[in-house]
Amino acid sequence: MTEIEERLAKCPFCGHRDMKMIDAIKGIDAHYLIVCEYCGAMTSFDYTSTRVECMKAWNRRTK
Ligand SMILES: [Zn+2]
Repeated sequence: MTEIEERLAKCPFCGHRDMKMIDAIKGIDAHYLIVCEYCGAMTSFDYTSTRVECMKAWNRRTK
């Protein structure tokens, strides 16, 4: 597990902490997926420029 994944907030659906960030490409735009490896919940963040920004967006959403 990388440092950034350790800092991802826990899953808002099932409460597990096994969250994984995936780099993905949709069209020409890079974006990131946050996936819960336990319940399979998946959230995508478009137009977040960095992995850190994606992590922050996820952590904001789960509050
Ligand atoms: Zn989950």
